[in-house]
Amino acid sequence: MSMSDLTPTALITGGSRGIGRTVALTLAAAGYQIYFTYVSRPEAAQQTVADIEAAGGSARAFCLDSGDSEAVSRFFAEEIKGKVHLSVLVNNAGITRDTLVLRMKDEDFDAVINTNLRGAFLFLREAVKIMTRQRAGRIINISSVVGQMGNAGQINYAAAKAGLIGMTKSAAKELGSRSVTVNAVAPGFIETDMTASLAEDVRKAYVSAIPLGRLGSAQDVADAVAFLASDKAAYITGQVIAVNGGLYC
Ligand code: NAP
Repeated sequence: MSMSDLTPTALITGGSRGIGRTVALTLAAAGYQIYFTYVSRPEAAQQTVADIEAAGGSARAFCLDSGDSEAVSRFFAEEIKGKVHLSVLVNNAGITRDTLVLRMKDEDFDAVINTNLRGAFLFLREAVKIMTRQRAGRIINISSVVGQMGNAGQINYAAAKAGLIGMTKSAAKELGSRSVTVNAVAPGFIETDMTASLAEDVRKAYVSAIPLGRLGSAQDVADAVAFLASDKAAYITGQVIAVNGGLYC
């Protein structure tokens, strides 16, 4: 039996909560076996696995820090290569360490770049080794509207998210000849734990700047990811799909 006879697997980084969790549930409903990572909340990860299984899907959760290069290589060697049919990679894991530039410490900058940008590179590099051999694969990087328009207090996060867009476009050029597509989704402000701590006045100011008049949902983002993973998106690569309610267009 060849790998392509196995159920296609979607690998999602940071699938225990928020956007990644909803992407996991949505791709499971579309028929993918789900592998996802998390780093600090095993109970949330187990809940996501249980919810996917309760809906008739199959999922495994792995505690794996996206920015740990050795751990990422080991994970691919032990759990992915020759074991599953890796069809989709969603680079979703992300953190924030917000503060104004004059107060930003080296550690704040490095932590955000390491998880949000370097982590995506590490997963992409491993996935590409497999997908180019298969001559098929979908890579979807979760960027942000902040990487497109900038945001005061988020120099580290904006740099990482803009970097992901450059990485997406470059990888699309390298991999198109092997039928591997690489796209980014750039969400606007989405209701998750990441935005839950916004002060009420800040939240109101964001909403008033969004033409569609609301924050987005994780499902809004997951539907764009599911589209890019599907056969309907076969001729789309190197693109950034904004899911931002018109906040930046
Ligand atoms: P969230 O609710 O804070 O969830 C983050 C997820 O990433 C969790 O599953 C977390 O795992 C995981 N994670 C964090 N650091 C990790 C690491 N080093 N290695 C592996 N997994 C890690 O965030 P979210 O709002 O869903 O955001 C998901 C992605 O969308 C991020 O890349 C974010 O930048 C992007 N985004 C979000 C918004 C928004 O408004 N929410 C807007 C634009 C873009 P644990 O549960 O173990 O902590």
